[in-house]
Amino acid sequence: MRVIVVGAGVIGLTCAVRLREEGHDAHVLARDLPAETTSAVAAALWYPYRALPQDKVTGWSKTSYDVLCRIAETDPNAGVTMRWGTELLRVDREPPWWRSAVPVLEAAHDLPEGYAAGWRLPVPVADTSAYLSWLVTRLEHLGGTLTRTWLPALPTDGVVVNCTGLGARALTGDETLRPVRGQVVHVEQVGLTDWLLEQSDAAALTYVVPREHDIVVGGTAEQDAYDPRPDPVVAEQILARAIALLPQLASAQVRGHRVGLRPARPEVRLATEMHANGSPGGVVHCYGHGGAGVTLSWGCADDVVAEVARLSPQ
Ligand SMILES: Cc1cc2nc3c(=O)[nH]c(=O)nc-3n(C[C@H](O)[C@H](O)[C@H](O)COP(=O)(O)OP(=O)(O)OC[C@H]3O[C@@H](n4cnc5c(N)ncnc54)[C@H](O)[C@@H]3O)c2cc1C
Repeated sequence: MRVIVVGAGVIGLTCAVRLREEGHDAHVLARDLPAETTSAVAAALWYPYRALPQDKVTGWSKTSYDVLCRIAETDPNAGVTMRWGTELLRVDREPPWWRSAVPVLEAAHDLPEGYAAGWRLPVPVADTSAYLSWLVTRLEHLGGTLTRTWLPALPTDGVVVNCTGLGARALTGDETLRPVRGQVVHVEQVGLTDWLLEQSDAAALTYVVPREHDIVVGGTAEQDAYDPRPDPVVAEQILARAIALLPQLASAQVRGHRVGLRPARPEVRLATEMHANGSPGGVVHCYGHGGAGVTLSWGCADDVVAEVARLSPQ
């Protein structure tokens, strides 16, 4: 079955790869190429952040965890690495709602001053500068294509998968889809291996995600903010918060600044809509992954494959 996937972020590319693996003739159309998308800005730490509903997100995240672990083990070119890390908590609390998605989650010890508890767990981290290209290579190897095209509207016949992230707001009129702006600083690698997360301040969270050649330091989460320009004052604040927790970052040279708009929605939209004009096929929507697109990608792609199978003539 021919399938048009709209969007070349982590969601569109992963869906297209999974569709190809299941024998569909999937091709990707996108306004922005992978390196230009929000997905390219992601720290790409596996972590179910700002995405709902909890039960589905836990299932999708578990599937992605397993697939990304396998990729880390089997394909060194994919840019995926397993890394231990710590989430610091100001107040001790029950394990997170997504606990069943990960095989290991331990209590952290040796906490910095001011923290009551913490969790330590190993998770996959994708370096998006390598991982998105790897997904494109995999798509092409399976016979798929990626074409730059801006679509003023979604196609009105055939099987279409809508993976347009925040672009879905204009394409579908979905006003529940809103940006949550995130700013990060890239610094040189100074020998860090473990990630660190601290989100007691929801708007000014702190995360440090080491990659092979650099470290992503975040961040911010500003609802309804669209400005794509990095704010230098905010960058200083991000670095100061991170250095307070990891003093070895003080000597790290800054390599660059990035901003991305997370496509946030009350719940991820993964659902099929028939064409309004009665044409054969339909649209499988898959957008609204908030701050967890990488984390949800392989699980959502499996559900998209199931939705497409329901649309395909037997
Ligand atoms: C600072 C920051 C840090 C993050 N960290 C993490 C993290 O650690 N872990 C994690 O899992 N997630 C993280 N995220 C979230 C993650 O980046 C998003 O959830 C993810 O990128 C969403 O992917 P997507 O493919 O849906 O959208 P996008 O990457 O935005 O891709 C959308 C695609 O649709 C195309 N498109 C849109 N409209 C049209 C149109 N009209 N015609 C044609 N094409 C169109 C675009 O051009 C693009 O190709 C982070 C995000 C930010 C901003």
